[in-house]
Amino acid sequence: MGKRLLIVIDGPAGAGKSTAARLLAKQLGYRYLDTGATYRVVALSAKQRGITPEMTEKLGRLCAELGIGFEDNEEGQRVYMDGKDVTEAIRTPEISMLASRISQEKVVRDALVDLQRRLGGPGVVAEGRDMGLVVFPEAAVKFYLDAKPEDRGTRRYKELLDRGITADLSRVIEDTDRRDKEDRNREVAPLQTAPDAITIDSTGLTPEEVVERMLAEIKKSG
Ligand code: C5P
Repeated sequence: MGKRLLIVIDGPAGAGKSTAARLLAKQLGYRYLDTGATYRVVALSAKQRGITPEMTEKLGRLCAELGIGFEDNEEGQRVYMDGKDVTEAIRTPEISMLASRISQEKVVRDALVDLQRRLGGPGVVAEGRDMGLVVFPEAAVKFYLDAKPEDRGTRRYKELLDRGITADLSRVIEDTDRRDKEDRNREVAPLQTAPDAITIDSTGLTPEEVVERMLAEIKKSG
């Protein structure tokens, strides 16, 4: 495939976006941009500094000052907060809920959308909730990845176990569902399908099968 494209993937938690985005980026020789991680880093830092979601002014200042970085290596991508490796620390259920909560604040979204735009561009697979509609409306190919709620909750549960975090399956399914409702119903940049997005239902598909479908669509569009 000749020209380098900007490809975006939106969808609810647990639909398999991260795995698909990572695999797709690897196959195409593109960079992977995990925009959820930027909200998670702000959530973690806010928690450590005792800043609650209601303290919007402090949150805004935090976003302006905080150093959010990514580094790719053979094993995957590491996430940094002011130079400190927080790859694992940002994946706990508590930070998931807090990230979802602070992402409803306009000051946070404005700052992070700016950062995401600087990190994105041709040769990038960007993954999140508002990629196709807000952050990168100009993207060459837009995917919306969805799956049945039990499938999404179970996927998140397995991810937690893989990271050594103990969790209760029904609680994780419930939390995933609650987080999605918040993401869909918030006032600023709610999770929505872009009209020009290609929807893929990942229920029962392996990540490789999802990526195969994506590659076929990318080929068609080029
Ligand atoms: O994708 P991930 O689960 O890591 O995202 C954590 C939270 O960050 C989501 O629940 C969502 O509220 C928020 N988010 C967002 N916009 C994005 C990416 C993530 O609002 N582009």
